[in-house]
Amino acid sequence: MKVAVIGGGAAGFFAALSTKEHHPQSEVILFEKSKNVLSKVRISGGGRCNVTNGSHSIKELSESYPRGKNFMKNVLKTFNTKDTWNWFEQRGVSLKVEADGRVFPMSNDSNTIIQCLLSNTKEKEISIQINKGVISLQPDNKNGFVVKTKDHSHIFDKVIIATGGSPKVQGFDWIKVLGHKIEKPVPSLFTFNMPDEPVKKLMGVVASNASVSVQGQKIKTEGPILITHWGMSGPAILKASAFGARILHDLDYQFNVNVNWVNQSNQEDVKQNLQSILKEHSKKQLSSYRPYELPDRLWQFLLIKNDLDGSKKWEDLGKKGINRIISSICHDTYQVSGKTTFKEEFVTCGGISLLDINRKTMESSVCPGLYFAGEIIDVDGITGGYNFQAAWSTGYIAGKLQ
Ligand SMILES: Cc1cc2nc3c(=O)[nH]c(=O)nc-3n(C[C@H](O)[C@H](O)[C@H](O)COP(=O)(O)OP(=O)(O)OC[C@H]3O[C@@H](n4cnc5c(N)ncnc54)[C@H](O)[C@@H]3O)c2cc1C
Repeated sequence: MKVAVIGGGAAGFFAALSTKEHHPQSEVILFEKSKNVLSKVRISGGGRCNVTNGSHSIKELSESYPRGKNFMKNVLKTFNTKDTWNWFEQRGVSLKVEADGRVFPMSNDSNTIIQCLLSNTKEKEISIQINKGVISLQPDNKNGFVVKTKDHSHIFDKVIIATGGSPKVQGFDWIKVLGHKIEKPVPSLFTFNMPDEPVKKLMGVVASNASVSVQGQKIKTEGPILITHWGMSGPAILKASAFGARILHDLDYQFNVNVNWVNQSNQEDVKQNLQSILKEHSKKQLSSYRPYELPDRLWQFLLIKNDLDGSKKWEDLGKKGINRIISSICHDTYQVSGKTTFKEEFVTCGGISLLDINRKTMESSVCPGLYFAGEIIDVDGITGGYNFQAAWSTGYIAGKLQ
């Protein structure tokens, strides 16, 4: 059996290796359009490659995919984060889990992952053809496929497409002509620009337990917020950008966010907390006692922003003053105008519609014998190793050629 894998990224390599594992007699050719394979693996995770996530709970993992949650539940049943871990460890790559759950090679070097994938493809005699972009794919009347590169036509029995995300919908034209529905690609995982907000002065400040919601939308996320010199970043913001990718794109990235700096939705709890400060630290000035251990610069900023006199004592606040503080820490509003690509990791939301892919096999439901793997599928995750996990899992399943 002759198998073509189109795309030399994480998903393509895993698909090719899985094909050889499940069909040792097959001839596998991997086509890569550029002169380098695994380029994204190289730059991923700041050069360290956040290869997967430390969680093994399918439910928990699937929650990290704004697109493809249920699809990934099925996929992870076959090839989970633990399988990724074992796969690399069994091939000599030692891995480690960091405190936030991200998994990296012990070497802290993405090259370790690249060398492992390259040496395994070499050992399995997978032919890697660089500078060979596939320009068209046609089902052949004898049940196979004609794969065309610029200078050649090749006949294959089965084809796995793993060409990654494309920021432009035209990038999918050669697959669309086979009858697949394409979900419009839009960016995911970006930070919020706030050109007119003085909060930028606080760049570098981190509120470690905050929440953010987009006004007028059902987008609410929790986690640390990092103030940057252009606006806001950090896990809570990146999650909001991922879960709101389509809506925020439709709003042309012009919207308001409510920030709850202490991630407390119950106003009564906050009131009680402030009242206890009022009793225990009654003689302290507002500016010298920070509720919820808010970063000092943030607290001073919020006092000024809300016309609260920092030299006032806590005991002199009164009911109105307490309400003003609740509103300043729990309902703080900022105007977002534009986005900035996150330096560590960005992905495309959109791609081949999940309706056209068999979630147990990755086979196209409109074109038998054709399979998909990786970011080309309309699945994307938040930061934390979830995107590579989707690439490994779908690549592994596609390679079974079931
Ligand atoms: C800067 C950055 C850092 C990241 N860091 C992380 C991280 O640490 N952890 C994580 O989980 N995710 C990370 N991601 C996301 C992750 O890299 C992707 O989700 C993942 O690489 C997708 O793998 P893929 O194989 O589907 O696609 P890709 O890695 O994009 O590979 C697709 C390949 O197909 C080739 N190709 C395209 N069209 C054709 C064609 N017509 N013919 C032949 N070849 C073709 C491309 O040149 C490319 O080599 C990061 C992304 C970026 C941009």
